[in-house]
Parts: sequence; C-alpha cells; structure tokens
Amino acid sequence: MGAPRDILEVRQFDRPFLEELFARADGMRAVIAAGGSNRLQGRIMATLFFEPSTRTRLSFESAMSRLGGTVLSAEYARETSSAAKGETIEDTARIVEAYADVIVIRHPEVGAAARAAAVVDVPVINAGDGPHEHPTQALLDLYTIRSELGRIDDLRIALVGDLKYGRAPRSLALLLTQCRNIELVFVSPPNVRMGEDVTAALAAAGLPHREESDLAAVLPTADVVYQTRIQHERFSSEEDYQAARGRYIIDAASLRSMRPDAIVMHPLPRVDEIAPEVDADPRAAYFRQARNGVYLRMALLDMLLT
Ligand code: ASP
Repeated sequence: MGAPRDILEVRQFDRPFLEELFARADGMRAVIAAGGSNRLQGRIMATLFFEPSTRTRLSFESAMSRLGGTVLSAEYARETSSAAKGETIEDTARIVEAYADVIVIRHPEVGAAARAAAVVDVPVINAGDGPHEHPTQALLDLYTIRSELGRIDDLRIALVGDLKYGRAPRSLALLLTQCRNIELVFVSPPNVRMGEDVTAALAAAGLPHREESDLAAVLPTADVVYQTRIQHERFSSEEDYQAARGRYIIDAASLRSMRPDAIVMHPLPRVDEIAPEVDADPRAAYFRQARNGVYLRMALLDMLLT
C-alpha cells in the first residue's frame, strides 16, 4: 500500500506500511534532536476533540509543530464548537476543511471520523471514535514494542483490563494480525471481555488467542503486559463499573514474577491499575510509550502531507 489518505481503522495497515512508518519514526528522533525541521511549513493541522485527551492531542500538536507546521485546536469541541448548537460532524468537517490540510478527530460516536472523511478531501485521522478504535495508539504501541524489545514478531502478549470498551487494546489486538508467531492472552473482568467483532477478526486472520482469569498465571511468561484503564465513562451503571474495577493490578509483586526482559505498557491515563511503585522499574515502559507517540505521529503526518 502507498500512503493512505485517511487513518480510520487498523484494518487498513499492512506490514510494509508498518515497516516504512516505523523506520520514519526512528528518523524523527534525530529531527527533534536537531531542533526540528521545516518540512511541513505552511501546512495546517486542525484537532477537533469532542472527548477528553492529554497525550493524543498534545502529541499530534507537538508532532506538527516539530515539523514546522501550524496547529488549530478545538479542545473542548463538544462544548465550544458549533456541535453544541447541533451541528453534525459532517458539517463541522466540511467547514474545517477550508481551514486546514489535515483534520484529527476524537469523538464519542463509533464511526464519526469515517463519516467526516467521507465528505472532505483533506486527510482525516481517527484519534478515537468512542469504544471502537484508536488506530494511531495501536501504531505507537507496536512501535514501542519494536523499540523496547527489538522485534514485532515472536511475542507473548497479555492484554489486561477493559477489553470491551477499551479502544486501545481493541486496535492493538487487530494490529497484531500483521505480526508473526504471536501468543495473545486476554485477561479481563467477565463483564468487559473482548468483543466478538475483534475475536472473529483475529480468528479469520489466523491469530489465536486465549482468555485467562488469573493474571498471576500469565505474568511469568509474558514479553508484554499491556494494562488498561476500566473505561468508567462508557458504563451504563455504576454497579457494573464497580464489578470491573480493581480486579487486576500490576504492583511490585507482579514485577517479581515477570521476566527481567519483559515490559509493562499502558495507553494511559491510569487510575489505580498500575501501582506507582512500578514506575521506577526499567520494565515500566508506559512513559516511554507516550513519548514514542510524538515520533510516530511526526512520521504519520509527514507521510500523509508530503
Ligand atoms: N487514552 C486512551 C484512549 O483514549 C486510553 C484510555 O482513555 O484509557 O482510548
């Protein structure tokens, strides 16, 4: 595949695209070290965020700025854009297309970015559409695995926590279909198990997975423990949320049973699912993971806009 026009879901990526993107992301480390570049000078990126974000929005904006581009930001778009007056995402996108060369959208509705992409000519990037997908998070997650472990094949990966509403683990599981010899284990409270749409896609792609309720049984052999937040805002009842939260925690005792060369990842923000005592361990990769988001998003913007 060549450079795609839009970035909407993980299914659109193939292995050559990943290799190319990751090689470019490596190169962006040197670009930052050299004080940035002017490659995207004169280009404008608009970020429309209808849901909260720290890392995704700021790392996209940082990435664009590091490449010499300009940023227009609607941070609380649900409250402060015309969406509050009832404007559809399609109409908002049509307007913003006149102001920007690429539009990054986070929205609570599944498929919102795709709907916007269908009506505009500029590239649209899905920065999270409700509980559905977060494709650029999956890209930076796999890039992090490659940076930390030196490979994206031959891995035992445990996805832990809210696999039902968590768009990050959903997208990562789907992206792993591009990798070889992956052992995938899902560890989740019973009411937030991985959706059948994802498990069916994994089966169709020949990527086997198994479910395990005992996190302690998984830790000693995992190369990657990918912990996630229970997505409080997506539950219809507080009772269901309470049933899911607090069951799986990574702490110092977990680290003792993990391999010395394993890593702990998390898309962040964390609530209580990784104890702060884990942060100082070299296997805690989540802050490096967040930093990788800048390199990866620089590479992606560069690919889409040049
Ligand atoms: N920041 C990630 C997301 O937007 C993970 C999370 O919110 O738990 O999906």
